[in-house]
Amino acid sequence: VNRDVRPFLLGGDWTLGHKEKSFPVHDPATGRILAEVADASPVDAIRALDEAVATSSSWAATAPRTRGEVLRRSWELLEERRDEFAGVMSREMGKTLAESHGEITYGGEFLRWFAEEAVRVGGTYGLNPEGNGRIVVAHRPVGPALLITPWNFPLAMATRKVAPAFAAGCTVILKPAEATPLTALLFGQLLIDAGTPSGVLSVLPTISAPEVVSALLEDPRLRKLSFTGSTAVGRVLLAQSARNITRTSMELGGNAPFLVFEDADLDAAVDGAMIAKFRNSGQACTAANRFLVHEPVAEEFARRFAAEVSSLRLGPGTDPASDVGPLIDGRAVERATSLVADAVARGARVLAGGQPSSGPGSFFSPTLLTDVPSNARMVTEEIFAPLAGIATFHDEQEAIRMANATEFGLAAYAYTRDLDRVQRLMDRLEAGMLGVNSGLISNAAAPFGGIKHSGLGREGGALGINEYLDVTYTHIPAPVG
Ligand code: ADP
Repeated sequence: VNRDVRPFLLGGDWTLGHKEKSFPVHDPATGRILAEVADASPVDAIRALDEAVATSSSWAATAPRTRGEVLRRSWELLEERRDEFAGVMSREMGKTLAESHGEITYGGEFLRWFAEEAVRVGGTYGLNPEGNGRIVVAHRPVGPALLITPWNFPLAMATRKVAPAFAAGCTVILKPAEATPLTALLFGQLLIDAGTPSGVLSVLPTISAPEVVSALLEDPRLRKLSFTGSTAVGRVLLAQSARNITRTSMELGGNAPFLVFEDADLDAAVDGAMIAKFRNSGQACTAANRFLVHEPVAEEFARRFAAEVSSLRLGPGTDPASDVGPLIDGRAVERATSLVADAVARGARVLAGGQPSSGPGSFFSPTLLTDVPSNARMVTEEIFAPLAGIATFHDEQEAIRMANATEFGLAAYAYTRDLDRVQRLMDRLEAGMLGVNSGLISNAAAPFGGIKHSGLGREGGALGINEYLDVTYTHIPAPVG
């Protein structure tokens, strides 16, 4: 173990911060300390904002092509440094190496996509209805942006925010989750190596997120907050953003239904279910949270799904033989254990797994329950563990009603071969994203985001850059004669 303290990036400098304090980063597969990271304070945060403000105009005035090329170079460097990133991501977060490589591919696409979008920020020029004036609509960067990311996708959640911010011309303070700062620090160095000018980017790990983030949100010079995390914290940050009317983007919790209809290809449905549930050990906001299966095929689906779940190999993310890695920490294991106990107490049956594993590290065995009643906590809450539960429905109307019976509205999945049904689901499911006959929906070219309590705004796609742009309108009288 390297006990040297890793400095963080404040403007152009790597520093231990004004307090010179640090905090440990743990390996969830062993519980051991991986590294010590310098702990940014509110004073450091305001210094980072000073830098973001000082460089804001020059970065906004930098040619879009130049900003795009920084992002393009970042994508190339990420490909070159793929193995180094994958190792760090799997060690500090626990996901398998295959999943880390998948995240690098996905996360890298945001760098490439927004390298291309930087030069396509347009506007409109038109005649007013009266015919005597011109309406000119333009965009400008919103200004210094605070980007707060969670630990479950330590790279992709950062690229999904930094790339559109840079493409739009915003300066950035990135605050990674305290469990996974090493990936963010590596990414900060990569962005500097790719040509990010000094001061445009700070990366501030901290174990005092509420204090550091409050200090920034209280400062009217900060103009943008983009947050990915829990709905509970999102609500607090929205309230704090009210003070300075700070622009916000919120990617919050989910409770995705996974619908299997009687006309579905059941093998495809099981394949999709495995990805939608067990990717990242179930620790994704888009993870299937409730398997809702049409009565006539429910038993057969459960039988095939249970066989696949039982065959998953649980182990350290860094071991190439592992299919499912550890959970982020011991608390997450305790929570998964209590969700199973709660469902079983209410009448659910265990078809596979169901237990934490003994020994070091925060492992929970891949688990499948059936006959899960609608009041079980694993139905009403976001699970965030390799824990699947099946319930049945009688007809399509009941399926839609059950699917929508949640305050969340992020992702939904549906397996069916009926095109009319697909179109009814597109209209009626209360979710920002729908996977039809697919268990994986994330794509840099698509707008990612939720409705209801799952959030505000969209990341990626043609819409993603708008989160970092203000709109201006100029009126000009039409020339006389
Ligand atoms: P998760 O359940 O994924 O850990 P959180 O919402 O707790 O989700 O954390 C997401 C991010 O929000 C992390 O970077 C974390 O440090 C940060 N965070 C947590 N609580 C607060 C808070 N009160 N104020 C600001 N940031 C916070």
